Amino acid sequence: MNVKILVLNFGSSTLKYKVIDIGSGESLIRGIVERIGEGSDDGPADHAGALSETLAKLDQHGLGLGGNGITAIGHRIVHGGQCFSAPTLVTPQSLEQLGLLDRLAPLHNPSARQGVQACMTLAPHIPQVMVFDTAFFQTLPSAAYHYAIPSWLYEKHGIRRYGAHGTSHEFVAQQAAKFLGRSLKDCNLISFHLGNGASVAAIAGGIAVDTSMGLTPLEGLVMGTRSGDIDPSIPLYMASELGMTPTEIDRTLNRESGLRGMCGDSDLREVFRRRDAGEPAAILATDVFVHRIRKYLGAYMAVLPRVDAVTFTAGIGQNSWQIRQAATEALEHLGIELDRSSNHDCRGLPADVATARSRVRILVIATDEELAIASLTAQTLRERQILLQ
Ligand code: ADP
Repeated sequence: MNVKILVLNFGSSTLKYKVIDIGSGESLIRGIVERIGEGSDDGPADHAGALSETLAKLDQHGLGLGGNGITAIGHRIVHGGQCFSAPTLVTPQSLEQLGLLDRLAPLHNPSARQGVQACMTLAPHIPQVMVFDTAFFQTLPSAAYHYAIPSWLYEKHGIRRYGAHGTSHEFVAQQAAKFLGRSLKDCNLISFHLGNGASVAAIAGGIAVDTSMGLTPLEGLVMGTRSGDIDPSIPLYMASELGMTPTEIDRTLNRESGLRGMCGDSDLREVFRRRDAGEPAAILATDVFVHRIRKYLGAYMAVLPRVDAVTFTAGIGQNSWQIRQAATEALEHLGIELDRSSNHDCRGLPADVATARSRVRILVIATDEELAIASLTAQTLRERQILLQ
């Protein structure tokens, strides 16, 4: 009997699902339920309703719960705080612990938690595992995860760097190691995940030692709609001088900044179309986007004792030869030398787009967060002998 994992990603108003056959790594079905809880006629009332709708659809495709259908459920959870440093079996206790983290990720965690709760009610006999976006970064050294703010803010309130996109960075690091023909323990990497959200991780011997996202996924690189790094005084200025409320500031920095804030579009393809037409706002937006990437690349060259490869993944990292070129050209002094033509023509992934004499490889790697979550779910259940194959 094949092991089939249902991967669920609950957002505030969406549920993305995918069923993966662990033996072949193939996706059997995928989809999205939208407009959850928006009071519209065609959207479900809540997360439990979205889940029932999904389970009914899976059942129609012969993927019911148990039997020869779904073996287990893997949940993507954005924030695992300091309690969760590895994928964790869902139990009443672990769910209660998860509830304590809501305030660290108010946009994401409560909906994921409601989703897990709904699964426990609707599918009590199906084992479930939570896979955390922050877990890969629980290895960060204290110098990398502490902010230079009063220590009580960390001790009493957990304010520190947690990182995000960890499942993707870890998956890409494994793929990079395989591609380089080395064990992960021997790989030092700078991993760029450039999608709508964007982050970079410094990885030494397969272990994360620094990352650009912080307490929340707002810090670091420029993103589709998020500002990334700014002077921390800016939100104070927006409050005291412009009279903006915390909700308005949050919306401005998370949803109305980044590429969208600078030029009106958050989709890089559209921004490049306008850049190519000579629009100054689109030129500025891509210049700022690239400048920030180069700054982090330089910083992480200094954080790591040796760099074997710089990796690019996700929608922009995998598809935009322009961004990869702008991010890595003229870095020969750091041992990074791009082969422009293989970067431009890069199709089959993974691909190495550095010149033969480049000291550092430049790899383009396809991420697959759902496959990573499904594999981690199966592995966790095997370790606990809940899954015997
Ligand atoms: P998400 O974070 O939502 O999963 P993705 O990883 O799908 O995002 O990345 C979305 C981004 O990738 C968008 O900015 C989109 O413009 C960009 N992208 C996708 N395909 C291309 C392409 N062929 N060239 C340039 N950018 C692309």
